[in-house]
Amino acid sequence: MSVEDFDVVVAGGGPGGSTVATLVAMQGHRVLLLEKEVFPRYQIGESLLPATVHGVCRMLGISDELANAGFPIKRGGTFRWGARPEPWTFHFGISAKMAGSTSHAYQVERARFDEMLLNNAKRKGVVVREGCAVTDVVEDGERVTGARYTDPDGTEREVSARFVIDASGNKSRLYTKVGGSRNYSEFFRSLALFGYFEGGKRLPEPVSGNILSVAFDSGWFWYIPLSDTLTSVGAVVRREDAEKIQGDREKALNTLIAECPLISEYLADATRVTTGRYGELRVRKDYSYQQETYWRPGMILVGDAACFVDPVFSSGVHLATYSALLAARSINSVLAGDLDEKTALNEFELRYRREYGVFYEFLVSFYQMNVNEESYFWQAKKVTQNQSTDVESFVELIGGVSSGETALTAADRIAARSAEFAAAVDEMAGGDGDNMVPMFKSTVVQQAMQEAGQVQMKALLGEDAEPELPLFPGGLVTSPDGMKWLPHHPA
Ligand code: FAD
Repeated sequence: MSVEDFDVVVAGGGPGGSTVATLVAMQGHRVLLLEKEVFPRYQIGESLLPATVHGVCRMLGISDELANAGFPIKRGGTFRWGARPEPWTFHFGISAKMAGSTSHAYQVERARFDEMLLNNAKRKGVVVREGCAVTDVVEDGERVTGARYTDPDGTEREVSARFVIDASGNKSRLYTKVGGSRNYSEFFRSLALFGYFEGGKRLPEPVSGNILSVAFDSGWFWYIPLSDTLTSVGAVVRREDAEKIQGDREKALNTLIAECPLISEYLADATRVTTGRYGELRVRKDYSYQQETYWRPGMILVGDAACFVDPVFSSGVHLATYSALLAARSINSVLAGDLDEKTALNEFELRYRREYGVFYEFLVSFYQMNVNEESYFWQAKKVTQNQSTDVESFVELIGGVSSGETALTAADRIAARSAEFAAAVDEMAGGDGDNMVPMFKSTVVQQAMQEAGQVQMKALLGEDAEPELPLFPGGLVTSPDGMKWLPHHPA
């Protein structure tokens, strides 16, 4: 069998795989991406975050294409959650700290969004082969040196590479080759049952594009507008209530909808889509997990292959594309001969774990507040002790910290006042002690907010971005173009 050779082989053409492949190919390296399906293909995970849209997508060079695609604009989220009976809304741009032209994301049909990213990878020089399932890695001692795959004709093929990236998502078993175990969270173990509806009600303008998340006795619903008429609707139920989504799915979903007055109201005049891509009612485990190790010599995990955290804050595509960016920087540095593999990939893993940790910590608090029946808004007001309304208090906290990204979407402000911004982040993130919620005191949260700011600043400002500091003692900093790591030399 003849063995082709590439610098990098990527398994999986979802957002994680396309992103890492593109960012490495943009540095002139030879990249092969193998995707099991033929695109466009269905995927769940439709609600994006501003950091993906205005940070990573800008680096990939698809901001304009994305903006012109006609995806509904997501200005924030609307929740019926916690002790308060009324829905409440947060806007990415409500706070002066978050205002600006990048204070929104999109709700995307993943078949279209993922195909856009994959086509962009092709345009940027990635060799993309669809209908090719990676079956195994090739090993030489400790090192992964290539991959085996089955091509569309069913022929077994082998390819060698300096790096094999597993970006094959949640269902593939390729990740086991990296070593260590996949550790599941005891806390987040839910199941989701979801489908699509035509003609569902919309939130009033200007928030008609918001995600609507509604807690009810058995769990919570997402309600995501994908066009003027199409809506993605999913019920997430706790593991203890798993029997509620067993058996006839149509009946199960209708029963759950009937349990939830707000979703019943929004779907009162809607019809479930029963044909085509959106015709199936699907069930997915959304258990949270993370792999014990994210890399070994020659092999790296990105996206769902590495970790997943509860979907309530729509972090999946963000974690996939952000980890892809981190991995690309490491690979680009090693292939350029700038850094050794261990140094570059330790930086990748530390930053990736920290970002995951931010969401995990935040989400535990979010659910704890729900379980304790304390009002979410009241808690936020109590913590900040400010003069704002309950809603505003919450928005300032959640907008700045839940992702660490949404606070960083104001391009004009970042450009003009990045130093002032950094100070504001410090203050918000836990500058002053006892009044802060524990998660805001966490250094992991503070560091992630700062890194997130740097990601967006790099994307927005390119070489003019503020010089950054390492996030970890002795750690690396990003190159001015954001595509590699550099050693840090204090002035
Ligand atoms: P994927 O998108 O899964 O892409 C992996 C690709 O690899 C696929 O195209 C697959 O066909 C391919 N592949 C698989 N095996 C192989 C193989 N052996 N060889 C080659 N190719 C292979 N995220 C959000 O951002 N917003 C949301 O609103 C959201 N809601 C969610 C709701 C639920 C119920 C769940 C479970 C998840 C949700 N997510 C959401 C998470 C989101 O779906 C994922 O985090 C995201 O798709 C991960 O991207 P990825 O590139 O890592 O993997």
